[in-house]
Amino acid sequence: MKRKDYISWDEYFMGVAILASKRSKDPNTQVGACIVDNNNIILSTGYNGFPFGCSDDDYPWCRDGEDTKYSYVVHAELNAILNARGKNLKGARLYVDLFPCNECAKAIIQSGIAEVVYLYDKYADSAATVASKRMLQSAGVACRKFTSDKKSLSIDFEK
Ligand SMILES: [Zn+2]
Repeated sequence: MKRKDYISWDEYFMGVAILASKRSKDPNTQVGACIVDNNNIILSTGYNGFPFGCSDDDYPWCRDGEDTKYSYVVHAELNAILNARGKNLKGARLYVDLFPCNECAKAIIQSGIAEVVYLYDKYADSAATVASKRMLQSAGVACRKFTSDKKSLSIDFEK
Protein backbone atom coordinates (compact mmCIF):
# COMPACT_ATOMS: atom_id res chain seq x y z
CA MET A 1 0.00 0.00 0.00
CA LYS A 2 1.41 3.36 -0.99
CA ARG A 3 1.67 6.32 1.36
CA LYS A 4 -1.41 8.51 1.48
CA ASP A 5 0.07 11.66 3.01
CA TYR A 6 2.37 12.58 0.12
CA ILE A 7 2.16 16.17 -1.15
CA SER A 8 0.43 17.13 -4.40
CA TRP A 9 2.29 18.56 -7.39
CA ASP A 10 0.80 21.96 -6.64
CA GLU A 11 1.95 21.79 -3.03
CA TYR A 12 5.40 20.65 -4.11
CA PHE A 13 5.95 23.43 -6.65
CA MET A 14 4.38 26.19 -4.56
CA GLY A 15 6.58 24.92 -1.73
CA VAL A 16 9.65 25.28 -3.97
CA ALA A 17 8.56 28.82 -4.91
CA ILE A 18 8.15 29.76 -1.25
CA LEU A 19 11.49 28.18 -0.38
CA ALA A 20 13.15 30.24 -3.14
CA SER A 21 11.55 33.38 -1.68
CA LYS A 22 13.47 32.77 1.53
CA ARG A 23 16.68 33.63 -0.37
CA SER A 24 15.46 37.21 -0.91
CA LYS A 25 17.30 39.97 0.93
CA ASP A 26 14.36 42.37 0.60
CA PRO A 27 13.34 43.39 4.12
CA ASN A 28 9.71 44.02 3.12
CA THR A 29 8.72 41.63 0.35
CA GLN A 30 9.98 38.12 -0.36
CA VAL A 31 8.60 36.48 -3.50
CA GLY A 32 9.62 33.20 -5.11
CA ALA A 33 8.76 31.54 -8.41
CA CYS A 34 9.09 28.06 -9.86
CA ILE A 35 8.59 27.13 -13.53
CA VAL A 36 7.53 23.58 -14.36
CA ASP A 37 7.00 21.72 -17.63
CA ASN A 38 4.14 19.43 -18.63
CA ASN A 39 5.96 16.43 -17.18
CA ASN A 40 6.17 18.15 -13.79
CA ILE A 41 9.89 18.71 -14.14
CA ILE A 42 11.24 21.92 -12.65
CA LEU A 43 12.77 24.12 -15.35
CA SER A 44 13.79 27.09 -13.23
CA THR A 45 13.34 29.02 -10.02
CA GLY A 46 13.82 32.64 -9.01
CA TYR A 47 13.27 35.19 -6.27
CA ASN A 48 13.27 38.96 -6.08
CA GLY A 49 16.77 40.39 -5.98
CA PHE A 50 19.32 42.60 -7.68
CA PRO A 51 21.09 41.62 -10.92
CA PHE A 52 24.44 39.81 -10.85
CA GLY A 53 27.23 42.11 -9.75
CA CYS A 54 24.89 44.54 -7.98
CA SER A 55 25.66 43.93 -4.34
CA ASP A 56 22.85 43.42 -1.83
CA ASP A 57 24.96 45.50 0.54
CA ASP A 58 25.59 48.44 -1.81
CA TYR A 59 22.22 48.88 -3.52
CA PRO A 60 19.20 50.33 -1.70
CA TRP A 61 16.39 48.19 -0.29
CA CYS A 62 14.26 51.21 0.69
CA ARG A 63 10.85 51.92 -0.86
CA ASP A 64 10.85 55.70 -0.44
CA GLY A 65 13.23 58.52 -1.32
CA GLU A 66 15.31 59.37 -4.35
CA ASP A 67 17.07 56.04 -4.79
CA THR A 68 14.77 53.09 -4.19
CA LYS A 69 14.89 49.34 -4.79
CA TYR A 70 12.36 49.68 -7.61
CA SER A 71 15.03 50.89 -10.04
CA TYR A 72 17.16 47.79 -9.51
CA VAL A 73 15.25 44.78 -8.28
CA VAL A 74 14.43 41.88 -10.61
CA HIS A 75 11.14 40.26 -9.68
CA ALA A 76 10.96 36.54 -8.91
CA GLU A 77 9.02 35.66 -12.05
CA LEU A 78 11.39 37.49 -14.40
CA ASN A 79 14.39 35.99 -12.59
CA ALA A 80 12.91 32.51 -13.00
CA ILE A 81 12.35 33.13 -16.72
CA LEU A 82 15.88 34.48 -17.17
CA ASN A 83 17.40 31.72 -15.01
CA ALA A 84 15.89 29.20 -17.43
CA ARG A 85 18.68 30.39 -19.78
CA GLY A 86 16.80 29.96 -23.00
CA LYS A 87 15.03 26.69 -22.21
CA ASN A 88 11.74 26.32 -24.03
CA LEU A 89 9.02 27.54 -21.65
CA LYS A 90 6.14 27.10 -24.10
CA GLY A 91 3.21 25.53 -22.30
CA ALA A 92 4.95 25.66 -18.91
CA ARG A 93 3.35 26.50 -15.57
CA LEU A 94 4.66 29.22 -13.30
CA TYR A 95 4.12 29.01 -9.54
CA VAL A 96 4.54 32.24 -7.62
CA ASP A 97 3.35 33.31 -4.20
CA LEU A 98 2.32 36.86 -5.17
CA PHE A 99 0.22 37.52 -8.31
CA PRO A 100 2.55 38.80 -11.08
CA CYS A 101 2.86 42.52 -11.83
CA ASN A 102 2.34 43.94 -15.32
CA GLU A 103 6.05 43.88 -16.18
CA CYS A 104 6.37 40.21 -15.25
CA ALA A 105 3.12 39.48 -17.09
CA LYS A 106 4.76 40.75 -20.30
CA ALA A 107 7.70 38.39 -19.80
CA ILE A 108 5.40 35.49 -18.87
CA ILE A 109 3.37 35.98 -22.05
CA GLN A 110 6.38 36.40 -24.33
CA SER A 111 8.10 33.32 -22.92
CA GLY A 112 5.11 31.11 -23.79
CA ILE A 113 4.17 30.17 -20.22
CA ALA A 114 0.59 28.85 -20.36
CA GLU A 115 -0.53 28.98 -16.73
CA VAL A 116 0.16 31.01 -13.60
CA VAL A 117 -0.60 29.47 -10.20
CA TYR A 118 -0.48 32.05 -7.44
CA LEU A 119 -0.90 31.96 -3.67
CA TYR A 120 -2.22 35.43 -2.91
CA ASP A 121 -3.24 38.59 -4.74
CA LYS A 122 -2.40 41.31 -2.24
CA TYR A 123 -2.35 44.18 -4.76
CA ALA A 124 -5.44 43.16 -6.76
CA ASP A 125 -6.67 46.75 -6.90
CA SER A 126 -3.39 48.27 -8.09
CA ALA A 127 -3.01 49.54 -11.65
CA ALA A 128 -0.12 47.13 -12.20
CA THR A 129 -2.18 44.08 -11.26
CA VAL A 130 -5.23 45.21 -13.23
CA ALA A 131 -3.01 45.70 -16.31
CA SER A 132 -1.33 42.36 -15.65
CA LYS A 133 -4.66 40.49 -15.57
CA ARG A 134 -5.85 42.27 -18.70
CA MET A 135 -2.75 41.22 -20.66
CA LEU A 136 -2.67 37.66 -19.30
CA GLN A 137 -6.32 37.20 -20.22
CA SER A 138 -5.86 38.63 -23.74
CA ALA A 139 -2.89 36.35 -24.29
CA GLY A 140 -4.76 33.28 -23.06
CA VAL A 141 -2.55 32.63 -20.04
CA ALA A 142 -4.64 30.79 -17.45
CA CYS A 143 -4.46 32.10 -13.88
CA ARG A 144 -5.41 29.90 -10.97
CA LYS A 145 -5.35 30.52 -7.23
CA PHE A 146 -3.45 27.83 -5.34
CA THR A 147 -5.57 25.67 -3.07
CA SER A 148 -4.62 23.02 -0.57
CA ASP A 149 -6.21 21.32 2.39
CA LYS A 150 -2.92 21.90 4.23
CA LYS A 151 -2.08 25.14 6.00
CA SER A 152 1.66 24.51 6.04
CA LEU A 153 4.46 22.12 5.25
CA SER A 154 7.56 21.87 7.39
CA ILE A 155 11.15 21.04 6.58
CA ASP A 156 13.39 19.55 9.26
CA PHE A 157 17.17 19.51 9.05
CA GLU A 158 17.39 17.16 12.00
CA LYS A 159 15.88 13.71 11.92
ZN1 LIG B 1 6.83 41.60 -11.36
